[in-house]
Amino acid sequence: MHGAGDVRIEDVPDATLIEPTDAILRVTRACICGSDLWPYASMAPSETGQSMGHEAIAIVEDVGAEVRTLKTGDLVVMPFAISDGTCEFCHEGLQTECAHVAFFGNNGMNGAQAEALRIPYADGTLFKLPVGEDDALMPSLLTLADVLGTGHHAAVGAKVSPGKSVAVVGDGAVGLCGVIAAKRLGAEQIIIMGRHPDRIALAQEFGATDVVSERGEEAVQRVKELAGGYGAHSVLECVGLNQSTETAISIARPGGAVGRVGVPQDAMMPGSQTAFYRNVTVSGGPAPVRAYIEGLLPDILEGRIQPGRVFDRTVGLDDVPDGYRAMAERESIKVMVKP
Ligand SMILES: [Zn+2]
Repeated sequence: MHGAGDVRIEDVPDATLIEPTDAILRVTRACICGSDLWPYASMAPSETGQSMGHEAIAIVEDVGAEVRTLKTGDLVVMPFAISDGTCEFCHEGLQTECAHVAFFGNNGMNGAQAEALRIPYADGTLFKLPVGEDDALMPSLLTLADVLGTGHHAAVGAKVSPGKSVAVVGDGAVGLCGVIAAKRLGAEQIIIMGRHPDRIALAQEFGATDVVSERGEEAVQRVKELAGGYGAHSVLECVGLNQSTETAISIARPGGAVGRVGVPQDAMMPGSQTAFYRNVTVSGGPAPVRAYIEGLLPDILEGRIQPGRVFDRTVGLDDVPDGYRAMAERESIKVMVKP
């Protein structure tokens, strides 16, 4: 990406092993993320550009001398963050706060919208999949790299548990996966906030019980009405704008919780007084999806959840620029890339 709206496919030098803990991956599937749309809307023009993409399924092409758990030919999920797998945060299951954390396709790190890339700390970062390369579950497995784990993190942050009422702010891939996660954790009522008919329909198939298409204060009132008059026990904020965050905090019932996973586009967090006076917990951050893969994987393998349905378009590398356009114009929910 060379600037807002300026995505180009370029030839770059082949990825090579640098550290003995590295692996080289050949990407078989990647995707465009809703968070890629923020720089697509606002990035300042750049001569060098930023290599993009932070979600992938890939084949291990080569490993460094100190890589212990992976070998050439393994099929892996690449979560969006690098983690060493050994520091105290990795041991606590918070790999996105790893002592060596870095985010693919960000700040000069290489990205996965590519044929190949280098993975630092391969043992800690990558997760080996127990399926073959052509498995029909591939779209759903690809969501383990980010959107499913991120939706799950929102649900965990929002303290979703059996019998609770849940509201989901955002009908992108993460919000839709948040619906899956809330249902999986036993929520009794799941209110999806959105107005795009295709996305609403998918949310309902994923387990949403109610739809709120109003906006602003009307939306807040509608959610409160639906959720017993006081608001939802748990709110998943899956957008990251000030207005969506304010709405999320406003629709939580007293003592409720908001799990934020939308990348905040502002330094200040709105809704401070609303949260304070109603004892609403606000938590969240970059999801440690590496930690969640093991728990979510059986539900995909055994067909209980189908998060891969968020992909409604597949492109080759040459059509990645058009994929960005389609997602930015909300013509597509999420685009899969097959290099
Ligand atoms: Zn670590």
